[in-house]
Amino acid sequence: MKRRIAILGSTGSIGTQALEVVKQHPDKLDVEVLTAHSNAPLLIRQALEFMPNAVVIAKESMYERVFEALDPYDIKVYRGSASIEQIVEMDSIDMVLVALVGWSGLKPTLRAIEAGKTIALANKETLVVAGELVTKLARDKGVNIYPVDSEHSAIFQCLAGEFHNPVEKIILTASGGPFRGKNHEELLHVTKAQALKHPNWNMGCKVTIDSATLMNKGLEVIEAKWLFNLEIPQIEVVVHPQSIIHSMVQFADGSIKAQMGLPDMRLPIQYALTYPTRLPSQFPKFSFDDCLQFTFEKPDKENFKCLNIAYEAIRLGGNMPCIMNAADEVAVHAFLREEITFLQIPELIERCMSKSSFVKCPSLNDYEASDIESRSIATELIGRFRK
Ligand code: NDP
Ligand code: MG
Repeated sequence: MKRRIAILGSTGSIGTQALEVVKQHPDKLDVEVLTAHSNAPLLIRQALEFMPNAVVIAKESMYERVFEALDPYDIKVYRGSASIEQIVEMDSIDMVLVALVGWSGLKPTLRAIEAGKTIALANKETLVVAGELVTKLARDKGVNIYPVDSEHSAIFQCLAGEFHNPVEKIILTASGGPFRGKNHEELLHVTKAQALKHPNWNMGCKVTIDSATLMNKGLEVIEAKWLFNLEIPQIEVVVHPQSIIHSMVQFADGSIKAQMGLPDMRLPIQYALTYPTRLPSQFPKFSFDDCLQFTFEKPDKENFKCLNIAYEAIRLGGNMPCIMNAADEVAVHAFLREEITFLQIPELIERCMSKSSFVKCPSLNDYEASDIESRSIATELIGRFRK
C-alpha cells in the first residue's frame, strides 16, 4: 500500500527535497496535498508533476494564478492559511510532513494530530513554541511524530530496538556554523551574505541564520526534550564541524550509539516518510575515502549567546520558549533586511524575553497572545536599535 502524504511547505528546502524522495519511490509514496506560501510558479510545476488531489496557496493574491493553471487538471486549489489547517484533515491523507517555517507550523500540526494523522515533523519551532501541548495531544490521540530534523532523526535511529532501555543522555552535534572560531570583535562585522553561507548544509534562510547564531541548536535542544521526553540536563551539545555524525545517544551502561551519513536532508526525510522501513537510496552516500578525520569541540557559548538563551528559556518553561521563538523570528528577518547586526540578534531576543508577560501554564490562546506580544515588543526594539 502506498503511503499518501501531505507536504506542507512543498516549495521550501525540505519540501523540495521531500519531493525528490517521493520521486525515488513512486511505488511507496503518493503526494496527496502540496502547500506553499507565495511561490505560485513552483507550486504549479510541482502540482503538474506529482498530480496531488489538492494544493493550497496561503497568499490570497496568488490564488487566481494557481487556480487558472490547475483547473484543467482536476486538482483542487484552496487559498489562505486557514485552508492549510483544514486540509490536513482530509480522509485520504495518511501522513503530514510539516515543512513550514517558524510559528506557521503550529496550528496545522495540531489539527493534523487531532485528525489522527501520522506526523513527519521538520518544523522544530512547533515543539519549541508549544512542545508540551503538542506532545500531550499526540499521546492522547495515539499519533506518532517522526522527526525529520537530522539530529533528532539520528537519535530516533539510535533508539531503534532500544525503546525499553533508559537513555542516560543524548549528545546533539552542531557544525558550529560559518562563524565557528570567530571572536566578539570579528563577529561585530560579519555580514548577511557570510551568515547565509553555511559550510555543510544548504537550507532555507531562517534555519541558516539560526545555525550561524547557534539558536538552531538551542531550538533543537528544546525540540529533543519534547520528542524524546528528556530532562534538559540529559541533553548535551558538541560541535562536530564535519557534520557526518548527526547525533548520539548514551545508555545507562555507558555505551554511546551514533548515526552517521552525509549532510543531506534527503536521508532523514526518507527515513521519516517510510519508517520503519529503510528503502534503498540513489542519493550520494558517505565514504571514508572523503573524510578521514572527525573532530569535536565544545560550543563557544560566550560569543554565541543564543544557545544559553534557549537553555534559559526552557529552564523557565511556560510560554518563555514561545516568546523566545517569536523574538528570534523577528530578529532573523530584521537581520536579513540588514536592519540589525549579527550580535544584535541575541541582544534583541534577551530583551524581548525580559519584557514579555510570563505565563506558567499556557493554553493555545496564551501561546497565540505571547507570540503576538513578543513580535510587537521585538519590532519596537528594532526601531530603537536603528535610531
Ligand atoms: P524554507 O524557508 O525553505 O521553506 C518554507 C516553506 O514554508 C515554503 O514552502 C514556504 O512557502 C512555506 N511558508 C513559509 N511561511 C509560510 C506561512 N506563513 N504560511 C504558509 N506557508 C509558509 O524552510 P526550510 O525548508 O529550510 O525549513 C522548514 C522547517 O524545517 C523549518 O522549521 C526548519 O527549521 C526545519 N529544518 C530545515 C532544514 C533544512 O535543511 N532546510 C533542516 C532541519 C530542519 P514559499 O516558498 O511560497 O514561501
Ligand atoms: Mg538540525
